[in-house]
Amino acid sequence: MKCPPFEYHRATSVDDAVAALAAAEDSKILAGGQSLVPVLALRLARPTVLVDVNRIPGLDGLDVRDGVLHAGALVRHAALARQALHPLAAAAAASIGHAAIRSRGTLGGSLAHADPAAELPAVLRACDGAVVVAGPDGTRRVGADALFVGALQTDLAEPEMITGVELGVPDAWGFAEFARRHGDFAVVSVAAARFGDRLRVVVGGVAGVPHLLETSAPSGTGALDEVAGALADDVDPSSDLHGSAGHRRALTRELARRALADVITEPAREPT
Ligand SMILES: Cc1cc2nc3c(=O)[nH]c(=O)nc-3n(C[C@H](O)[C@H](O)[C@H](O)COP(=O)(O)OP(=O)(O)OC[C@H]3O[C@@H](n4cnc5c(N)ncnc54)[C@H](O)[C@@H]3O)c2cc1C
Repeated sequence: MKCPPFEYHRATSVDDAVAALAAAEDSKILAGGQSLVPVLALRLARPTVLVDVNRIPGLDGLDVRDGVLHAGALVRHAALARQALHPLAAAAAASIGHAAIRSRGTLGGSLAHADPAAELPAVLRACDGAVVVAGPDGTRRVGADALFVGALQTDLAEPEMITGVELGVPDAWGFAEFARRHGDFAVVSVAAARFGDRLRVVVGGVAGVPHLLETSAPSGTGALDEVAGALADDVDPSSDLHGSAGHRRALTRELARRALADVITEPAREPT
């Protein structure tokens, strides 16, 4: 199907984008288009104005300051996958779709779209991250715990635009996911991040928003099984055509074990 008719505005700055968004009754930001264009083609949304933010300068930077990665909203998944400043974000971005999707899709677009199975929302939550948002009343910062309010739903208002993303760089990290075919959305994914003695483990694909378990980082024999088991008990997935609730719970346990393998170090077992 073809997209419904819309007016097209190519924004030259964040202020220009926000003004164009606010001026229209039903407007949408066009970033990489990898989620929005299918939505339009399926006629699931009919915005009257599309505000293309791709040519706004200065929104594709990556830089670490005081242990936090500051990324522009227009950083493409492929660029995030290539960088070494934040290895957890790199591993997660490399798992998104296919190369063509990674070369167009953007960090800001993925977080704004808030697909429950998407990798980058899980990473934002695991890293206790935040988005910087520009709107008609100025700029605000929204933490990951407040940003995601439901499947495909965020705290953002219509004329607001994510301009930047902040991700704490963890001391240790892990990422694992299961997809039925290469390039598919993950059925379940797990992102784990340790900051000092604080452990944040996030599961994607088991609820409307990325599911967080926060705990002090355990150590000692059996710690890995303990956290993976606690996480599997904590999630409450539902069944759909991609997998039953039980399958998702079992995936959560196994993927958590894999994601946590380099995060929780257990003493070597005594030979028996
Ligand atoms: C075949 C296929 C497979 C895919 N597989 C995966 C996958 O495995 N994992 C995964 O995570 N994703 C996957 N995606 C989605 C992809 O990652 C998208 O790039 C991403 O979800 C949206 O980013 P975008 O830049 O393309 O945003 P767009 O499609 O341009 O926009 C998406 C939504 O976000 C809004 N938006 C965009 N940018 C901003 C902003 N800066 N501020 C506020 N709102 C904004 C738009 O208005 C729109 O509502 C897949 C897509 C396709 C087509």
